[in-house]
Amino acid sequence: MLSKEKRQLVAEILRRGGTLLAEPCPRCGGILVRYKGRTFCPNCDNINSIEDLEAKAEIRPAELKDIEDMIKQRLAAVLKNETDEEKASRIALNYANALKALRELGRKNEG
Ligand SMILES: [Zn+2]
Repeated sequence: MLSKEKRQLVAEILRRGGTLLAEPCPRCGGILVRYKGRTFCPNCDNINSIEDLEAKAEIRPAELKDIEDMIKQRLAAVLKNETDEEKASRIALNYANALKALRELGRKNEG
């Protein structure tokens, strides 16, 4: 059961163009809202104000991109020092898989 504050928050999210999802939160069984292409649980994601929601909606995709950039930079640095061709291609493949997994994670978050 949502508190009065949370219910008001959900109403505000809907007013701003968010939508209510049909399925319940897998963690707490509460309601899920979709806002700016991301799914949030007001309980589990600890959203107490519309500012919290805006902040989380903006930050999440940037974080994924930052991680992706970090992986690419790390790969470039590793390959620069690796002279063994076969080992280098194995390393590149590992990083490519990591990037792929990361992108799938990003897509999952978008629903
Ligand atoms: Zn939840």
